[in-house]
Amino acid sequence: MVSLDSKTKQTTTKQQSSPVEEVLGLEDQFVNRHVDPTSEEIDQMLKALGFSSLDALIDETVPSSIRLQKELDLPKQKSEYEALKQLRAIASDNQVFRSFIGMGYYDCITPAAIQRNILENPGWYTAYTPYQPEIAQGRLEALLNFQTMISDLTGLEIANSSLLDEATAAAEAMSMSVGVSKSKATAFFVSEECHPQTIEVLQTRAQPLGLEVIVGNHREFDFSTPIFGALLQYPTTEGKICDYREFVEKAHEQKALVTVAADPLSLALLTPPGEWGADIAVGSTQRFGVPLGYGGPHAAYFATKEKYKRQLPGRLVGVSKDTQGKPALRLALQTREQHIRRDRATSNICTAQVLLAVIASMYGVYHGPGGIKRIAEKVHRLTVTLAEGLKRIGYTIASEPYFDTLKIETNNAPQTQQAILQAAEEQQINLRSYADGALGVSLDEATTVEEVKILLQLFAGTETLPFSLEELVPELTFEFPETFNRTSSYLTEAVFNRYHSETKLVRYLNHLQSKDLSLTTSMIPLGSCTMKLNAAAEMYPVTWAEFGKIHPFAPKSQTKGYQTLFEQLETWLSEITGFADISLQPNAGAQGEYTGLLVIRQYHQTRGEGHRNICLIPESAHGTNPASAVMCGMKVVPIQCNERGDIDLDDLRTKAEKHSENLAALMVTYPSTHGVFETEIQTICETVHQHGGQVYLDGANMNAQLGLCRPGDYGADVCHLNLHKTFCIPHGGGGPGMGPIGVQDHLKPFLPRHPVIETGGEQAIGAVAAAPWGSPSILPISWMFIAMMGAKGLTHASKVAILNANYMAHRLDEHYPVLYKGNADLVAHECIIDLRLVKKSANIGVDDIAKRLMDFGFHAPTVSWPVAGTMMIEPTESESKEELDRFCDAMIAIRKEISAIEMGEVDPENNVLKNAPHTHEMVIGDDWQRPYSREKAAYPSDWLRDYKFWPSVGRIDNAFGDRNLVCSCVGMEAYTE
Ligand SMILES: *Cc1c(COP(=O)(O)O)cnc(C)c1O
Repeated sequence: MVSLDSKTKQTTTKQQSSPVEEVLGLEDQFVNRHVDPTSEEIDQMLKALGFSSLDALIDETVPSSIRLQKELDLPKQKSEYEALKQLRAIASDNQVFRSFIGMGYYDCITPAAIQRNILENPGWYTAYTPYQPEIAQGRLEALLNFQTMISDLTGLEIANSSLLDEATAAAEAMSMSVGVSKSKATAFFVSEECHPQTIEVLQTRAQPLGLEVIVGNHREFDFSTPIFGALLQYPTTEGKICDYREFVEKAHEQKALVTVAADPLSLALLTPPGEWGADIAVGSTQRFGVPLGYGGPHAAYFATKEKYKRQLPGRLVGVSKDTQGKPALRLALQTREQHIRRDRATSNICTAQVLLAVIASMYGVYHGPGGIKRIAEKVHRLTVTLAEGLKRIGYTIASEPYFDTLKIETNNAPQTQQAILQAAEEQQINLRSYADGALGVSLDEATTVEEVKILLQLFAGTETLPFSLEELVPELTFEFPETFNRTSSYLTEAVFNRYHSETKLVRYLNHLQSKDLSLTTSMIPLGSCTMKLNAAAEMYPVTWAEFGKIHPFAPKSQTKGYQTLFEQLETWLSEITGFADISLQPNAGAQGEYTGLLVIRQYHQTRGEGHRNICLIPESAHGTNPASAVMCGMKVVPIQCNERGDIDLDDLRTKAEKHSENLAALMVTYPSTHGVFETEIQTICETVHQHGGQVYLDGANMNAQLGLCRPGDYGADVCHLNLHKTFCIPHGGGGPGMGPIGVQDHLKPFLPRHPVIETGGEQAIGAVAAAPWGSPSILPISWMFIAMMGAKGLTHASKVAILNANYMAHRLDEHYPVLYKGNADLVAHECIIDLRLVKKSANIGVDDIAKRLMDFGFHAPTVSWPVAGTMMIEPTESESKEELDRFCDAMIAIRKEISAIEMGEVDPENNVLKNAPHTHEMVIGDDWQRPYSREKAAYPSDWLRDYKFWPSVGRIDNAFGDRNLVCSCVGMEAYTE
């Protein structure tokens, strides 16, 4: 116990520790491995700030009116070993059945080389979203591979670098269609043969936008109701492969866009949607090596035609060039996105599913076109074997032609649905059961011949099979009808044909990883993104089979372990936030915003106040806030901030008054996005309540509040948590995330339901994600964090996060003024430094400083948000004083370099800042022509001699890439030639 401050130490001794354990020296505290600064370092930092204790600092920082007056009621903290043991016991209550349920989720084989080198590798999973592309070329290349693979498989020109899940991707397709269709129609046709969760997520999304969803049979739909778009499933949820050409033609005559939800594995054999006229293809790449995980996380894909590139939702990786003319990757067309376009953005997608997209893309790289085709053929051939066997036993297949999924009639069949299901359960097998008495079976990559025999036996009942597979198989044909046969090639690019041995693959993965700066290199002080430690013990359970190999629609009786995990995590998060209940369904922060606002909307509607549609949002808000409000059919009214950066109370009162009749909600971030604990937060909440509005709290800044204050106590009605920020789920290079929401009692009835598995409130809003609990397989991470920290540990973490931020603000203030401060000139857990002065004095912009930081081995803080021309620094509690000092020293050294420009000592254009970052190649090259030394370029600090991280490309030309948009590796290779 080194790092708990003395006051906490005393209470620990008195109240919690068992004296025997302490006497024997058995106390083992994870908190000291998560919170880096030791008590000596804490004292040194406090001294620098002029405080005598950590509590004295916190008392001055967090307004006393909102301070939590008790300790959080959480189980006593456990060591890594104890917590893992307890979670093991919980996990063992899950029964891992063999699931043939399908419906968009299939068992698959994660190649061990990919599991170990990506999924379980902090070099990959602790990276940040690639906003600083010069130090993110590795994951950008992996994502470009993903886009190329999707483009190839779907036969469409352009694909994004992942969305959250298939259902939300379909909803994004609907939104895009209404935006780009030249039709004035307000109806969207959805085939009833789509997955049920997709249909419901679409309906949820359509309702607040005033769009009508027509669910029907595509064969019978006569287009008499005009539509702006349609969604079809290929193959259908029941397994049938349909010829949609005629439907597509008719839709196009009406200027409607056709979206096709397609299984990417099937596209290795079937004519891709792009070749028969689809405008958009969406789907899930789960079965490309990503474990089922009881529903997620998995990467969804979204592909469309080139002409819609500016309307494409989500992130898009594109090729550009660096200062040396070398091809280089970066996120393209960012001006479509919420952080710039706010309420006019193409979508609210911020965190997506980068790590999972990387895994899926590497599955493609590892297997190559031949391997992917073999896997698809294997799955199909086994399915044919099963289907023909079933026919011989006397069953009718209702889903022909099929790829991997059969709908099997049980009327007048040898066995009843009930009898088969019961026999299946005894064999620990899950099948899909239809209300009409039929059964569904979906085979997958992991299916064996033995399993096909077992399945046949289940349907045969007690009878021995009247044939053997050895007799049956030679008689089978595996061809698809002509129209469905894929003739075009795919994955022809070099990258998919080069790394098929494990040696080559591992070297390729390591090569990419070495280009990326992650938390394994140095601190990533990203304001608002809380890049803290993702402890190995937290990550460990993610790949346990008891969590990984469970189908999201397995009966609840098999998922008792998961139910316990959810209950405990919900109870703990409720206690931490002060809310009555939690929904774990939203699978990113922005999804939480959307869900929370829908809950508010439903609340108003049930009270007969459905007209309330005004959403007040401070100007400083994160771009996802206005984008989410618009998705809920709300009108955004901005609230000004005053010169201190706080919400302008007068403006708030005026606008609340003005829109009193129609006020739906206020969205507010606390502590503010300016990094300040506003003292008026309760008044702000009360003002909104007085006018009948609800308070939505953006909880991205929860890391400043653990055990110190609770949104539920100071006036919020609903709040999302970014588990991938405060609660240790790693950032994954831009996802996965989880954005559960907490609500007050009066909003509990409206928490989202799910069409397949029972969950949610009594007057629930429809599903907002494909899976009932979002991305369950990463919830063990947050469970482990809370279990190991306990109440005292969490509180200590927030206190040290605040201390670390104030220490950095204090050290940097005289070099770069801290823009906003709260009470006693203190900041919360992050601070904004103002760089606009050096823009004026030396024409040095934030980007120049961000790129120069790379030469020092650092990732830049958040750049130009929430205020243009500034940087927002958030160190978190997991960084040591030594690391904070190193970063501050780098920033101060850069300030000196700027001073040299100000003094006219160096060229204002040709200098270390404007030319940053400096690559190895530039510095080693023979033609060094710069007015400063190579040493100054690459080794501006002494510590770099011991460990130097080299940016792999020079500064990237963003505008060039946007003008010459290339989003697949075909383009990349053309550049290299
Ligand atoms: C990160 C963040 C969000 C969005 O969360 P995602 O998980 O990326 O969707 C919203 N608001 C704030 C203040 C954030 O920092």
